[in-house]
Amino acid sequence: MHRDTLIVHAGYRKHGEPGPFLPGPQFSSTYSSPGAPSQHALTYGRFHNPTWTAWEEALGTLEEGHAVAFASGMAAVAAVLGVCLRPGDVLVLPADAYYTIRRLAAGWLEPLGVQVRLAPTRDNAQADALEGARLLWLETPSNPQLDICDIRALVEAAQMRGALVAVDNTTATAYLQQPLGLGATYVVASDAKGLTGHSDLILGHVATADDERADALRTWRTQHGAIPGPMEVWLAHRSLATLPLRVSRQCASAQELAQFLDGQPGVETVRYPGLPGHPGHEIAARQMRAFGSIVSFDLGSRARADAFLGALTLVREATSFGGVHSMAERRARWGGDAVSEGFIRFSVGCESVDDIITDVTRGLKAAISR
Ligand SMILES: *Cc1c(COP(=O)(O)O)cnc(C)c1O
Repeated sequence: MHRDTLIVHAGYRKHGEPGPFLPGPQFSSTYSSPGAPSQHALTYGRFHNPTWTAWEEALGTLEEGHAVAFASGMAAVAAVLGVCLRPGDVLVLPADAYYTIRRLAAGWLEPLGVQVRLAPTRDNAQADALEGARLLWLETPSNPQLDICDIRALVEAAQMRGALVAVDNTTATAYLQQPLGLGATYVVASDAKGLTGHSDLILGHVATADDERADALRTWRTQHGAIPGPMEVWLAHRSLATLPLRVSRQCASAQELAQFLDGQPGVETVRYPGLPGHPGHEIAARQMRAFGSIVSFDLGSRARADAFLGALTLVREATSFGGVHSMAERRARWGGDAVSEGFIRFSVGCESVDDIITDVTRGLKAAISR
């Protein structure tokens, strides 16, 4: 069957099996389990939960690997770093990696004796930092600058040096990009963004093709305790069936918005991997099914960016991305990314693209009057 069809049914009860299509959330901290614990599939709520099992089966279909769900994207990131790295190891991170991952590496891993090397995503620059590395961390498209690196080429470079590879796939989602199929050891994502798309929960997951690595991640989760809540997992699973519809619409609208913005007065640069002039366009076209829901652009100054955001009446000013409701923010307000003061990260939702462009036109008019 078509992949979209498999996603609509992923992790649901099998066709012909009586009962709900998708069982409701299982709220249990403990389960009746007399005698030897090994006789029971369910014993204690930090070890397992049938709601997680169904969700992980669905994620496994998407990633084509074994998936382990976590309480947040950062819990998933920390689990991969935790199971891979020991004092003396070298971690190669994107210099433009998600800000909190860079903070975690500097604040937790470096004091433990892990050497952290930073190199940009663009131009596969991380390939030159791999000597002696234990783990290569990739993020493509990077957030918020939407730079692209070649996953397959970097996996090959890492394998030659015996390094593992993890890909933060949050911006693309497993719908658009499957790093395990390109040879990565791990794929990691925040499921608070485009994968679930309704801006109503925080979750994360890791997937790997390797059984033993998946077991090690489950042990990490049990021991560190960053377990997902059953309500969040059930909401996420409920959202997954519309993933192909949502993301297809968002990508088509994002492409249209990017083309509209390119050349508009007041817009200094537009970054979208779907624009032929984007430096990573050809690689993205090879390794992604479409180019994603985020369009970034520079309005040249903080005053212009603030005027743009202040004039919007449909698009909400908020952080995060990938939701069905369009949102935008002036990224420099956080201080963690190397972006200019007028840089806008725009997340295209599922509204009519005409309405989105009408709102953006209103914003741009306000911006250029500043
Ligand atoms: C949001 C995000 C994370 C962290 O995920 P949380 O669910 O917020 O913990 C990690 N990487 C990227 C690229 C993100 O956008």
